[in-house]
Amino acid sequence: MTTATLSPNTAPAARWIHELALPCAKYPQGMQGILSITSFTRRGPVTAAYTVDPIRDGGRIVGWHLENLDNGQTYDIDHVSWGWSGAECTCGSCVFGHRACKHVLATRAALETTGGIL
Ligand SMILES: [Zn+2]
Repeated sequence: MTTATLSPNTAPAARWIHELALPCAKYPQGMQGILSITSFTRRGPVTAAYTVDPIRDGGRIVGWHLENLDNGQTYDIDHVSWGWSGAECTCGSCVFGHRACKHVLATRAALETTGGIL
């Protein structure tokens, strides 16, 4: 018998609960996204829901603002300065761990499924 184990290094799983929409004819103000992020920790999978909003400089999207709906913690992702491969988030994993965190990996993966954003 084999037992499947999840590596703590497994990339987080991202799933839109409510897909984000940028301003368009249908949604002139755009629509806030709600993203479910499951990270695979040593203690097992942990899932949390986050709101996702674009951060704008003028009309240009320069990052993403996430808010954890369970605890209110907020995170800002900068994917412009260094591109997605060097994207930085304001959470401890990025600031102190200097590596892509679950917010960056999950937000990128989710946005890639959303037409016309990335
Ligand atoms: Zn983060």
